[in-house]
Amino acid sequence: MPVKYKDYYEILGVQRTASDSDIKKAFRKLAREYHPDVAKNKKQAEEKFKEINEAYEVLGDPAKRKKYDELGANWSSGAEFRPPPGWESFGRGGGFPGRGHRGEEYEFHFGGTGFSDFFEQLFGSRGRGAGGFGRAGGMGAEDLAERGADIEGDIMVTLEEAMRGSVRSVSVRHAVPCEHCGGTGQRARHVCNVCGGTGQMAKTDTYQVKIPAGVTEGQRLRLAGRGEAGMAGGAAGDLYLRVRFARHPDFEVQDHNLIYEAELAPWEAVLGANISVPTLNGRVNIKIPAGTQNGQKLRVRGRGLPERNGGSGDLIVETRVEVPGKIGESERKLWEQLAKESHFNPRG
Ligand SMILES: [Zn+2]
Repeated sequence: MPVKYKDYYEILGVQRTASDSDIKKAFRKLAREYHPDVAKNKKQAEEKFKEINEAYEVLGDPAKRKKYDELGANWSSGAEFRPPPGWESFGRGGGFPGRGHRGEEYEFHFGGTGFSDFFEQLFGSRGRGAGGFGRAGGMGAEDLAERGADIEGDIMVTLEEAMRGSVRSVSVRHAVPCEHCGGTGQRARHVCNVCGGTGQMAKTDTYQVKIPAGVTEGQRLRLAGRGEAGMAGGAAGDLYLRVRFARHPDFEVQDHNLIYEAELAPWEAVLGANISVPTLNGRVNIKIPAGTQNGQKLRVRGRGLPERNGGSGDLIVETRVEVPGKIGESERKLWEQLAKESHFNPRG
């Protein structure tokens, strides 16, 4: 099943030659605009937000961007696309065999995970899980029973969801034996008119996936029995969804801590100040002590992401002193006076 090509440069509105910092800037601007928590038209913004995140997940990572660029610049958005031969997907941990009982290729199409099929095929963990090869134990006829394969995919989780938890509707489309002909492709010596002789039908299953508060990047959510059906009475495999955090325009994530970069005016750093910083639960005021250095880290306890033991990570505010680019005449006089009177020597 081919997928639709995604033009990640077009999605972020940058040239293919854009620098890493231009890409980051473009992402932050769009992510602020379309963040589901702030946008007016939530439904529309959510789709756009996920698309922006997916684009940044690829273009914001030098290795993935290089790999993406290798596909060439001549693809147009929405064109039918298959990964080139020999393409090794990211994140598959060594790669799955990629073939089924009769040697056919496994391809699953996911919906509602936040990632496109295009992303999943090239960069996702989509595939057949490693745990799906065991046989159900037993005697006699049960020896033929084979457990169904596990299915694995990615799910994009916003930091707000990781904070509060959520329930999402995820669909998986996969091939099952045609019910009309029992998978033989034939019925009464004629080509089956339901599956056209392939013996297979596409089946879409939709599941409600609970995302618990406190999930972490890379955590796998297991939906028992939601993988592929077993053979000859074997149990069904499991469906695993690997959590990937959506990038946030304001915060970086480090374990359970959130990192926020706060810009300071030089006098705020020198004299100290009270400033307002965002958290995932509204803004808080923090005190910048007098004599704060560039890159100093201030900790706001308990305002990070929740932990599974009931605790919470911290918000870490990293300061960055900004220098005014343009100053007026009266300001210049004050700085000149300061330069004359100050005993501060940064190279002393
Ligand atoms: Zn059929």
